[in-house]
Amino acid sequence: MTRVVIVGGGPGGYESALVAAQLGAEVVVVDSDGLGGSAVLTDCVPSKTLIATAEVMTDFGEAGELGIDVAAPRVDLARVNARVKALALAQSADIESRLAREGVTVVHGRGRLDGPSRVVATATDGTETTYDADAVLLATGAAPRVLDTAQPDGERILTWEQVYDLGEMPEHVIVVGSGVTGAEFASAYQSLGIPVTLVSSRDRVLPGEDQDAAQVLEDVLTRRGMTVLSRSRMQSVSRDGEVVTVTLADGREVTGSHCILALGSVPNTAGIGLESAGVTLDDGGFVKVDRVSRTSAPGVYAAGDCTGVFMLASVAAMQGRIAMAHVLGDAVQPLDLGVVASNVFTSPEIATVGVTQQQVDSGEVLAEVVMQPLATNARAKMQGIVDGFVKLFVAPGSRSLLGGVVVGPRASELIHPVALAVTERITADQLAQTFTVYPSISGSIAEAARRLHRA
Ligand SMILES: Cc1cc2nc3c(=O)[nH]c(=O)nc-3n(C[C@H](O)[C@H](O)[C@H](O)COP(=O)(O)OP(=O)(O)OC[C@H]3O[C@@H](n4cnc5c(N)ncnc54)[C@H](O)[C@@H]3O)c2cc1C
Repeated sequence: MTRVVIVGGGPGGYESALVAAQLGAEVVVVDSDGLGGSAVLTDCVPSKTLIATAEVMTDFGEAGELGIDVAAPRVDLARVNARVKALALAQSADIESRLAREGVTVVHGRGRLDGPSRVVATATDGTETTYDADAVLLATGAAPRVLDTAQPDGERILTWEQVYDLGEMPEHVIVVGSGVTGAEFASAYQSLGIPVTLVSSRDRVLPGEDQDAAQVLEDVLTRRGMTVLSRSRMQSVSRDGEVVTVTLADGREVTGSHCILALGSVPNTAGIGLESAGVTLDDGGFVKVDRVSRTSAPGVYAAGDCTGVFMLASVAAMQGRIAMAHVLGDAVQPLDLGVVASNVFTSPEIATVGVTQQQVDSGEVLAEVVMQPLATNARAKMQGIVDGFVKLFVAPGSRSLLGGVVVGPRASELIHPVALAVTERITADQLAQTFTVYPSISGSIAEAARRLHRA
């Protein structure tokens, strides 16, 4: 029997464990902080649970347009956060039970490599156990980046992992960082009714996303009252009693009651014997992997945030599944980042798949582009939706779908037909000829596809 030892129990680790068990391997997972990893305990699951509350508040805020008077709804942040934490723990427990049912051995402790085919697990009481492995999967994830000049204190200067300890509504939150995480928290706290200032070192929010989509989001956030400080690099963050001050590189100061730092992530790859086992890291400390998740050390694979490849739970899980298929002789489909669907859970949401506008503008990819605003969609009008669009990219010759962007409420759900079309190389005509419900927001996807028809 092949023995697989997995270090880290997040989506990269636990999804791989399930696949390996299904394929008949003997599987050990060593995890230090709880099954489900950061994805379940501190990152995706908690933030999207918080955002579920924020969405209801956004709907209340816009209910007047639909003829409903809602007397000022009030958020009880202590209750919201208690729900967030309970839900995350329950999800983690579900994953642990599932692994146990599938016969996976879970070791609670910290793992390190002792050469490429041995893992030493140190339990919380200091006991060490050694596991020999035919294959090792590293899935140790990443942690919030912190700076010497902006040290979190867990009370008012917070990483995204610490916000769920807030017992009361902050008076004014300053979010530093306008990437996906910063934008999601800024949008969520604003929807909860908290004044928000977003500090961005770049020209606009979400510099890595579709520019038209980011512009819509920035317009909506500022229209709802957010202060967005662009081209404003944070120099330091300090606290004096109940006041937090963010000092910018040009000397300006922004004060608030709380600051959330969203400065990116650093991989959890130090001090666990990787280099001495022959695992090559890049300059940022991420594990270098190929498209079937192999590292430079024979028999050692890596998946998820510790590899720095598209830091998403869905990609972590896919990298892990591919690794296990490769180890255990199942059919292997190498990772294709060109078909990854992803979403920014702001209000409105921004969902993307495939080719990007930047790739088209730079000439890297030849594509025709069409952008269909939601404002003309009958269902959108009924629901009071004014912001958002569907954008599709097609190959000029074959007319097959290369990519798409959806901006609007529940864009995360609407992107799926586009992702299917991109993955299966469906043509714009085929997408246009597929019935959509009338009236529906997805009708705008078919409408955009119809605009790409060539006689
Ligand atoms: C705020 C936020 C929101 C996000 N929302 C989404 C989202 O909505 N959708 C999405 O797809 N992605 C989202 N992400 C990204 C997602 O959380 C990560 O991509 C995902 O967690 C990566 O999974 P992983 O298995 O690589 O690592 P993790 O989930 O970080 O799990 C790694 C585990 O390994 C453990 N570990 C580390 N070192 C060791 C060791 N030496 N021994 C034993 N165990 C160890 C860690 O404690 C942890 O439990 C979000 C990220 C953030 C920051």
